Amino acid sequence: MMSERKHNFNAGPAALPLPVLQQVQRHLVDHRGLGLSVMEMSHRSPEFGEICDHAKRSIGALYDLPDTHEVMFLQGGASLQFAMVPLNMGTGAYINTGTWSSKAIKEARTIGEAHEAWTDKENGFRAVPAAGQSFDVPKDARYLHYTSNNTIYGTQWHHTPPTTGPLVCDMSSDFLSRPIDVSRYDLIYAGAQKNAGPSGVTVLLIRKTISRAFEGDPKTPLILRYPTQAEKGSLYNTPNSFGIYVLGLVAEWVRGQGSLADMAERNAARAGRLYAAIDEDPRFSGHAEPSSRSHMNVTFRMESPEAEAAFLETAGASGFIGLKGHRSVGGLRASIYNAVPDAALDALISLLRAS
Ligand SMILES: *Cc1c(COP(=O)(O)O)cnc(C)c1O
Repeated sequence: MMSERKHNFNAGPAALPLPVLQQVQRHLVDHRGLGLSVMEMSHRSPEFGEICDHAKRSIGALYDLPDTHEVMFLQGGASLQFAMVPLNMGTGAYINTGTWSSKAIKEARTIGEAHEAWTDKENGFRAVPAAGQSFDVPKDARYLHYTSNNTIYGTQWHHTPPTTGPLVCDMSSDFLSRPIDVSRYDLIYAGAQKNAGPSGVTVLLIRKTISRAFEGDPKTPLILRYPTQAEKGSLYNTPNSFGIYVLGLVAEWVRGQGSLADMAERNAARAGRLYAAIDEDPRFSGHAEPSSRSHMNVTFRMESPEAEAAFLETAGASGFIGLKGHRSVGGLRASIYNAVPDAALDALISLLRAS
């Protein structure tokens, strides 16, 4: 018997769609009559090749992937991309909207130069740049890097940065949450464990001019060059085969819900309902400036740490998990990713109103 599932608001690893977990469970021991688990298959087998291609096709279909780009699966998390981007693509200009952007800049500076084109540090990272705001992108910067959704501070870009040059984006916590014009980007990367799948797999939407021709620092190890993996279809070395399989199932589940535009509409409505519950009650206050509010990670506070501790205790006793804010921001945070059921969101809103 399965115990009752929690109302899971974890930031990552985070909720996965129940139908996906059930599908994994059904096929776990005997994958589609092959007599073995996906975990036990050779990553060189045609069966796994089909699983990997299926995951690429599903993600490509969701994003209407242009022929100029390809899907790649890597390991090392989004954090490894903080290093691979400058190693492969050289100097960039970075928009600093919080912890993850800061880490990307710090890592890039171990490799070469990285310009900080904008920061909201003084304001406690409550906002992303306003629509229409331009940046200082120095001439030697090959790309502009930004973080589309700031998992920790709960802010999100609701527009594309107004630059004509190449864009690189860390989309770890809003990948598969809304449509994106991929043609504007040289590289999109996302650790799967926030909104797209299990931990241990990073998905990239990459322009083929970058994935197929290495123009970075010649001292770069082969394993850290995009073409090494791209030329082998992300199977240069043993991939996270099980992670890719589950990511593919999640992408298929998203397709079953409709388009990414449908997903975006649903996410905006869900976030709107939660922010309304926070705004209507004087005991709660949102962290992010309203125009920068994330539709994925909702950050808020109560009047005192004691009130928050009491709230978390009540929540914990009522089957809620993951509502504590990140240690660097404090307060409370509800991550309302695609896979969080409406019923869990409704329960959270009722809890806010009742406590
Ligand atoms: C979680 C997260 C990361 C780090 O991901 P890892 O997979 O742990 O390396 C980077 N960027 C963003 C936006 C994140 O949410």
